[in-house]
Amino acid sequence: MTSAGNKGQSIEEKQYLLRFNADTKSHLTVMDADVCLTSCPDKICTIFCPAEVYKWEDIRMHVGYEGCHECGSCRIGCPHQNIKWEYPKGGHGIVFRLG
Ligand code: SF4
Ligand code: SF4
Repeated sequence: MTSAGNKGQSIEEKQYLLRFNADTKSHLTVMDADVCLTSCPDKICTIFCPAEVYKWEDIRMHVGYEGCHECGSCRIGCPHQNIKWEYPKGGHGIVFRLG
């Protein structure tokens, strides 16, 4: 069903239009866990990622790659270049629905 445009939609409503076909293997890799633990007090990836893929869990970074929006921000956003970002394998990843 379509509405009179997408203006005024909340993030939650917009995210309802997203579907994911997750691969079994992550396309995102935190390369050196020690860098996150010892050299990155702000854990900025937990802030800039619009999909909240990165969650700090006591001493390690949990990467919920299944919900990645493939915006590419973490390719440039990590101040230590500690995230390896690849496109998901063909047929996997995010699927956009347009209404
Ligand atoms: S921004 Fe980079 S270095 Fe910092 S916590 Fe995230 S992945 Fe680790
Ligand atoms: S590509 Fe975008 S949505 Fe995916 S993990 Fe990186 S910042 Fe988050």
